[in-house]
Amino acid sequence: MDADLTGPIRDPARLQAVRRTGLLDTPPEDVFDRLTRLAARVVGAPATFMTLVDSDHDFYKSCFGFEEPLASERQLQGTTFCHYAIRTDQPLVIDDTRAHPEYRHVPTVQSLGIAAYLGIPLVTHDGHVIGSFCAVDFQPRRWAETDVEVLRELAASAMREVELRALVDHAERERREKLALLESTDEGIYGLDRDGCCIFINRAGAEMIGWAPEEVLGKEMHPLIHHHREDGTPYPEAECPIARAAKEGAAVRATNEVLWRRDGTCFPVEYSSHPVLEDGERRGAVVTFLDVTERRRAEEARDRAHRELRATLESRSRFFAAMSHELRTPINAILGYNDLLLAGVYGELAPEQRGGIERGQTAARHLLELVNDVLDLSKVEAGKMEIQVEEVSVSALIQDLFATIRPLAAAHGYDLTLDAGPCDTRVRTDPRRVRQILLNLLSNAIKFGERRPVRVRCRTPATGGLAIEVVDQGRGIAPQDQERVFEEFEQVGGARDNVTGQGGTGLGLPISRRLAGLLGGWLEVESEPGQGSTFRLTLPPSPPL
Ligand code: ADP
Repeated sequence: MDADLTGPIRDPARLQAVRRTGLLDTPPEDVFDRLTRLAARVVGAPATFMTLVDSDHDFYKSCFGFEEPLASERQLQGTTFCHYAIRTDQPLVIDDTRAHPEYRHVPTVQSLGIAAYLGIPLVTHDGHVIGSFCAVDFQPRRWAETDVEVLRELAASAMREVELRALVDHAERERREKLALLESTDEGIYGLDRDGCCIFINRAGAEMIGWAPEEVLGKEMHPLIHHHREDGTPYPEAECPIARAAKEGAAVRATNEVLWRRDGTCFPVEYSSHPVLEDGERRGAVVTFLDVTERRRAEEARDRAHRELRATLESRSRFFAAMSHELRTPINAILGYNDLLLAGVYGELAPEQRGGIERGQTAARHLLELVNDVLDLSKVEAGKMEIQVEEVSVSALIQDLFATIRPLAAAHGYDLTLDAGPCDTRVRTDPRRVRQILLNLLSNAIKFGERRPVRVRCRTPATGGLAIEVVDQGRGIAPQDQERVFEEFEQVGGARDNVTGQGGTGLGLPISRRLAGLLGGWLEVESEPGQGSTFRLTLPPSPPL
């Protein structure tokens, strides 16, 4: 085929426009057949047709006056006059095909006997020529100006029909896509007009209220699903925010209302309603709602579990308080009598007797420590630990602490130092709890500090407040254990310390972290195994009173 012809035929944008019509290889239709019949009658031509020129064939959407097999097959392969017609957007007028040096070779001159041809290109609104609207004669003839005009008008009508269909198809596709979006959510969605009547409801919404969508359309929604409040009292429309939103154009959101189902039951909803604007004019409202029955149930279950847990913790705390009181008395008695024994009040002790009693003393002291720690922990858990905030001088508190612990440190060859700097500050906190935390951190630093100097220093974090750090250069804590040490009864890397040779309770850090939380701060550790650990207590800028 001539390259002059194939170029325009194969133009991808043009082919796409042809396919977009959705008409290729479709059955004949009255709308187009009427136009070709009319064309034949008005211009007095024996045959007329409307083709769409695809890449490899001409498709006759409508043809009039042709014999079989073309009349039924409605398509032709090979070069046709339409291929010449679609090269421009102007009519192609041929009075005598056989008299023309090029047209005489077009196969349809022989096969169909086409002697005269008049073709009007079918042009889309965006300028693509998709085919042609034509009249032919089997005798040469002089096409009149009016023939061209008539065919032009009919071609324009055919094109209007094609484009209108494309528009309708496009709009329908868009409508379906948008509907699919609204139907794919599990939230209920409905639209109201300005009178509060339903103009749309999605399936999820209709299911929630127990109505079929078509039963709700056109009805006022408030009396249908919002007629009563949760306590059963009537809900006048004038007070309903959704109805107001539809009528007055306000946006509303509610979390504690109910909607009523068709069967007279109701369910808790969360909804929001927004005005719908079209070209700046208020058309009504769109309401989205969610059945929150399950969420409410889960919240209630969680609250119940919380209350039960609190009650359990409180009774546990009471039990521990009573138990520790009962335990402390006999432990103190044991400690007291052992002290008397060791002091020789009941006579001289043989060295092995003394050793035995001393070991008994160590065990009793450990027991007392454990009882006290367990009591503290249960108090914190039950929310019974009292916090008394006052203004505290940090350096005074630390010096006081050093005075308490220095004898123990010195006995084991430790050097304790306090870095000055922000430690000279005053903070509002509970000094007893800060002391309890730091005492625990310092005793750990002495226990696990390998006799190397222990320092306390203060910093001012970027977030404000005050950070007090206890820094040792001891055995350190492996990265995977650095959170575990804050869990109850977790002792890592061998709990028995090198200094006192005693085991701890494994409760000091968990208690300290909880106390830090009660003070509005937190406790954390940074450590490098073999290099030492830094425990950091951060106090907030202004702790809650
Ligand atoms: P305890 O010291 O009574 O065992 P803690 O809760 O105070 O209980 O500490 C838990 C564990 O954390 C300790 O047994 C020890 O393994 C580890 N640990 C605490 N402080 C340090 C430290 N400064 N250096 C190395 N390990 C430490």
